[in-house]
Amino acid sequence: MDKILIKNVTILTMNKAKEIIENGVVVISGKKIIDIGDSSLESKYKGFFIIDGNGGILMPGMVNCHSHVSMVAFRSLADDEADRLKKYILPLEKKLVDKDLVYNGARYGICEMLLSGVTTFCDMYYYEDEVARAASRLGIRAILGETIVNFPSPDSKEPYEGLAYCKEFIQNWHKNDLITPAVAPHAPYTNDSEHLIKAYNLSQKYKVPLTMHVAEMDYEYKKYKEEYNMTPVQYLDSLGILDKNFIGAHLVLVDDKDLDILEEREVGISHNIGANSKGAKGVAPAVKMYKRGMKIGLGTDGPMSGNTLDIMTQMPLVGKIHKLFNSDRTLLPAKDIVEMATIGGARALNMEHLIGTIEIGKRADLVILETESVNMQPIYDYYSTIVYSANPSNVDTVIVNGRIVVKSKKILHVDFNDIRRSLLDMKDKILSATKEI
Ligand SMILES: [Zn+2]
Repeated sequence: MDKILIKNVTILTMNKAKEIIENGVVVISGKKIIDIGDSSLESKYKGFFIIDGNGGILMPGMVNCHSHVSMVAFRSLADDEADRLKKYILPLEKKLVDKDLVYNGARYGICEMLLSGVTTFCDMYYYEDEVARAASRLGIRAILGETIVNFPSPDSKEPYEGLAYCKEFIQNWHKNDLITPAVAPHAPYTNDSEHLIKAYNLSQKYKVPLTMHVAEMDYEYKKYKEEYNMTPVQYLDSLGILDKNFIGAHLVLVDDKDLDILEEREVGISHNIGANSKGAKGVAPAVKMYKRGMKIGLGTDGPMSGNTLDIMTQMPLVGKIHKLFNSDRTLLPAKDIVEMATIGGARALNMEHLIGTIEIGKRADLVILETESVNMQPIYDYYSTIVYSANPSNVDTVIVNGRIVVKSKKILHVDFNDIRRSLLDMKDKILSATKEI
């Protein structure tokens, strides 16, 4: 089905003028949007498969700029423990993470994303080939980075073996239409400067993105202050590795000078407020970043950190936490938050030429939210409805690259029960390993 016509929807284009078309029509041919307009368009396109949006809201697919999707296998473990990364996450990963866990976790987590209207995500983990396999099978767009760390990891016996894995991974996937392979040094504090530069050079050589955690941890900030009298951002800039291809996750502990650097270098930013607030990491200066016109999108982080993989639960948190933190209810109007969730995320990932808005020529990555559920009415402002009234259960239809992947709130083309079974089959093993830690 490569010719689709969507009708009876309110289209939030998220284009520059933020046009909204009521009772609108969007026409898709192959992977692309070929026409947009009012209901009169329907008579022009005969023989197209019709999706009747039933008065719903059609918006661009949402972009999750930072995740570790396979960690859904560990979701809800040790949520309230101190120093959880070192006490739980790293030991659990060492014991349990293998190809099967990464593949089964990725399949399940990608279903969660698709069912909630995420059509593109940026991921970082081990055995990233398995994530790519799952993403490709399920039909979601993704930037996927193999993790590079200075210690032996689930898929490498020696420190920094991730670099060699990464090179092969890029070669395996760089021709895939939906998958963009990436280089993912975990963080400044888990890579020395020599290997950060090697990772950067690898990303330059193959012209792929580089994504990493930056300025998230107190000890990270302290380390670079003590050793170099620099912030983590200034340290990375001194290595010459910050540029347009860099996608930084978190960027919580940043000052105005850091913002100047990040803006100048055109670094993409994943703002992960759900994970940052749950982990008590602090509030990133996202309002300043957005007002400067920086490349800021939203991310969930891994499901151990933020517990969900959907962007709809991030949006109200972004609004509420920044308003509360700054004692100003006028900050970040809902329209700006929907922008971050869509075209903002696309800009952060350097994909704004392909996705993020509903415009002729762009890829058909689209979401229909139904407006019949009790929480969705009345609607006086579409953006407020999306940010503050809606939740992932209102996502009715999802299209990625012109292919319908969710219809009537059900995932298509795969057996979700089988995917769930594969994830839950690992539960006993995970639970007993947790008890031994
Ligand atoms: Zn993360």
